[in-house]
Amino acid sequence: MPLELTQGDIAAQDTDAIVTAANRELAGGGGVDGVIHRAAGPELLRAIRAIGGTPTGTAVITPAFGLSARGVRFVIHAVGPIWRGGQAGEAELLAGAYRRSLELAAEHGCRSVAFPAISTGVYGYPLDRAAGVALATAQAFLTDHPDLHVRFVLFDRGSLNVFRRALERLQG
Ligand code: ADP
Repeated sequence: MPLELTQGDIAAQDTDAIVTAANRELAGGGGVDGVIHRAAGPELLRAIRAIGGTPTGTAVITPAFGLSARGVRFVIHAVGPIWRGGQAGEAELLAGAYRRSLELAAEHGCRSVAFPAISTGVYGYPLDRAAGVALATAQAFLTDHPDLHVRFVLFDRGSLNVFRRALERLQG
């Protein structure tokens, strides 16, 4: 299946599109978003400020600017939910952020897209639950888009192992 888990830095990927964990104001942020903005350069911030914002559970797409030197064509700015205990529609919103990102990648002719673990940093979404939502959403999308290659990039070995176990649960 064209679904890959790897440990590394999201901003160092060479996929057609890289997804960042944005906020709904599209104001630029820390964590993954800061790393990607530093790698792409100031034009990326100007591009999302021109868009202005996007609701939680959605995503927008821009050129990759400085990241294009590595062959990356697009940055997809996905807005996951802030974790509020699990009863505030978080799972649907997180799935929506992944699904919209995958749709945008497919609509723009991408063959490959790399995701970080959206919402699992500052936004506090428990990693094992987030992994289940992320992988199930990607797997469902890939059923209809078998040519797309989806890579999840986990920052540390512990997170990678959580995603590996979630994938085994999903496929087992
Ligand atoms: P959010 O605000 O959506 O929670 P964060 O950027 O705070 O997003 O964190 C999302 C996840 O990305 C966290 O699990 C964090 O450990 C991880 N992370 C941080 N830096 C990187 C990086 N350079 N590459 C990949 N993942 C990263």
